[in-house]
Amino acid sequence: MEIKFIVDNNVGKLARWLRMIGYDTLLFKEKDDARMIKIALNDHRVILTRGTQFMRRRLVTNGKLKAILIMPDNPKVQLQEIVKALNLNYHFRPFSLCLECNHLLIPRGKEEVQNLVPSYVFKTQNQYMECPVCHRIYWQGTHWQAMAKELKNLAEGLATN
Ligand SMILES: [Zn+2]
Repeated sequence: MEIKFIVDNNVGKLARWLRMIGYDTLLFKEKDDARMIKIALNDHRVILTRGTQFMRRRLVTNGKLKAILIMPDNPKVQLQEIVKALNLNYHFRPFSLCLECNHLLIPRGKEEVQNLVPSYVFKTQNQYMECPVCHRIYWQGTHWQAMAKELKNLAEGLATN
């Protein structure tokens, strides 16, 4: 079974990075730990958190709930740790999930997005994806390329800042 995550708000930046790689990742923005636990158990999600108290919960210590304590401050270092700890693949399924809401993106033809993207983008990009929920259009432009490059560096074990 494919690994899925729920990310505590205190390590919220991880959500975009994990989605960028293609791992199904919910961002839990509330304070109610009990609800986060319920979602994790129902949905078989691994909890990522900075809460040291959280790790002392019985469900975690007895292994019924999988949670990983995140220590570093830098989100990219956090990501490196998780990838290492869970043996994830940096090239898992890039460009497949909405970075904002975690839904599976749908390929869109160039003609379909003509009026939805800036004209300079339309001229240079041929491949588009749309989020069926928030309707953001994605293309592999400069922002995406920058993230992809960072992931490549992380995968190669190069230092980032
Ligand atoms: Zn979306």
